Parts: sequence; structure tokens; C-alpha cells
Amino acid sequence: MSFTKTKYFNNHHTACSLMIDDVVPAAVSEDGEIGPHNDWGYLKDSKNSLFSFLMENLLIKYPHIKGSIFLPLESHLYIPKDTKYNVFTADLDEEYIAFLKSKSEYFDIEFHGVKHTYNDGAKLVFEFENIQQQDFKYISNKLDTFEKLGLCFNGVKFPGYKYNSNALKFIENRSFFWVALEADMINRKHQDNVLKKLDKFDLINIPTNLSGDIFKPSSYIKQLKRLIKNILLHRRDNSPEKYIKYLYNNKLPITIQEHFQNQIPNGKRQTPNIYDDIESLDKIYSYLQPLDIWYASCSQIAKYYDAYINTEVYIKKYEFEIIYNGNLENSELSFVSEFSRIQDTITKKIYIGKPSKDKFVFNHIRSGKYTKFNTYDKENY
Ligand SMILES: [Zn+2]
Repeated sequence: MSFTKTKYFNNHHTACSLMIDDVVPAAVSEDGEIGPHNDWGYLKDSKNSLFSFLMENLLIKYPHIKGSIFLPLESHLYIPKDTKYNVFTADLDEEYIAFLKSKSEYFDIEFHGVKHTYNDGAKLVFEFENIQQQDFKYISNKLDTFEKLGLCFNGVKFPGYKYNSNALKFIENRSFFWVALEADMINRKHQDNVLKKLDKFDLINIPTNLSGDIFKPSSYIKQLKRLIKNILLHRRDNSPEKYIKYLYNNKLPITIQEHFQNQIPNGKRQTPNIYDDIESLDKIYSYLQPLDIWYASCSQIAKYYDAYINTEVYIKKYEFEIIYNGNLENSELSFVSEFSRIQDTITKKIYIGKPSKDKFVFNHIRSGKYTKFNTYDKENY
């Protein structure tokens, strides 16, 4: 008999997650008005909020969308206020956390620093870029405070993808189990488009590989630059569709990078951002619609991957044992088999496989001893 691990949950071909950075209880307005074009999360999900805009223009059309919000805990306190822009901020308090948690059908909430970035004299500092041991007490205290308010994180994205080894050691010790460390692979074929475990740390690294604005029409200059690059590199087709198909065909996770933050107080627009890219996001999800995809949060993808690389199956004729050697609790995995039913030899629970092509798929299977279950074995029902 065979009982084989599947790379993704439910034997899907690949996984897709929407990664939204910088959801912040703030808005930056030039004229004092606040709408989805300049809301960073200040209006929560009220009328004219960016979240309502996202709901009406994307989530209603594609209700299966899942992803992760990367939350900076106090970045709203460090937004420069000495510009011509009006900066609106609110507390990241229990009410705000309740708003974030009410969207758990779509998004998990993950850690994106405390200050995120701040000015040290004239220099802009990314919080984890050169962080030292003495700075972690402050961060630990903040994490403890927010944990008491019900915000528990599994994953981290360091602001600006800037970090040092102290930062990795700290989050490993704090029991985070995954990171999104780099975005070098965004919109391009790259060896780091895979999920992997870091060499020296017990952390799974999720790539950030598709920009939410990939379908947004670019300026004439950008188009010309791309054309010249394609000719020089002998690339005939550099279309977004071709790149997404490359990720899909190679069973690489499709991780879509976006920001909630849009209007920056220096007058520029953050790129990419949900508001400006909404049509491009629509095109991405429309393109993915007919494909065999597991829509999941980054934590779900990382947890599944941990189970995938740390689980072994030992088969003995009609009996087999599944052993998980990782460190996470309640780890479970999907498998395919030519048999339609299996039974846990200890609890006697029967699992019925879902037909998939000429085989059967079993989901949510944990460590244990199992046997093939014969359907004519009626006394076991
Ligand atoms: Zn950020």
C-alpha cells in the first residue's frame, strides 16, 4: 500500500497568501478629509474606510481570499508630524484589536515591529536592522502587553526586510515559528521562491514573491526599460501571467505583497498599496480562480510545511505509522493513498478519503498508527 504526504493541504497544487503590511490606526490627509485613498486603518471597517473598500472591491468577489496582516504595534506614534499633512492617529487598544480579530475569516495578525522605523537625528532607522541585546527588553515587554490583550503572533516580517542575527535569535527564543525575511524574489524567477527552514535557526522562511501591483499599467519609461531588458536578456515573454504560471507550475507558494499604508506624509504614495492596486489585485485573483490553489494565511502555510518536512511514514503491509518529529503542537498533514478508508489502530476512528483522480486524499492526519480499513468489515462501524 502507499500513503504519501502531499506538499500542500488537501493535495492542492500550490498555496496563495495575501500579505498586507502596515495596517496602522492612522490616516495621513492633505485636506483634512479621510477616505480609503489615505486611510491606513484609522477608520477600522466603517464607511469610507480602506477595509470597507477592500471588502467591497475584492473580498466580496473572492471570499476564499486568505492572508496575513503585518502589524507594527506603535508605528503610529513615530509618523513625522512636521509636514503639511494632517496625521490622524488612534490607540491600538482592545477595541482596535477586536476590529482586527473580527477579520480572522480572511486574515491572521502577525508581528511587524514595535516602532517599525524611527528617526535618529537625520537618519531613518529600521527597528531590527542593527538591534542590540539591550533593546529587546523593550520589545519583549510590548509583546507581553499585547499578548495580554489577546494578540499572539506566530510569524514576523522585519520592517524594510532589515534585520541582524540578534533579531533572528530573539524571535526564535520568543517561540515565533516563521519569518518572511526577504523580498529579493519579488516578481522574478529566483532560487528563493521556495519555502524553507533557515540553516541556523528553527524558523521557516516564507518568500514574498508577487507584488500586488504587477498588473498595474506602468509609465512609458518603465515599459521601455522593461522592453530593453527583455531584449538584452533574450526574454520573449515577461508578462505577469507567465510569471504567476511559473510559480504555479513549479508548486511554489504565491505570496502577494501589499501595504495598507498609502499616502505618506512626504507627499509620495507607498508602493504597492491596496487602494492604488485594487484592479491589479482583481486581475491576480481572477487569473488564479480556475487553478487548484489552497488559499491560506502565512501561519497555515508555515505550519503545514513544518509538518511536511518533519513527518515520516513507515509502512508495513496493511499497517503504517506516522511520526512527526517537529516542535509544534497539534501538527497535522494531508496524504494520498489508493485506499479509500483508514482506521486509527488505537482510537478505532475511521477516516474516509476524498476521491481525487484515481486516488483518495486524507486531511488533518496526525501522528499515530493506522491500518487500511476494509469497507466490508461491518462490525467495525
Ligand atoms: Zn512595514
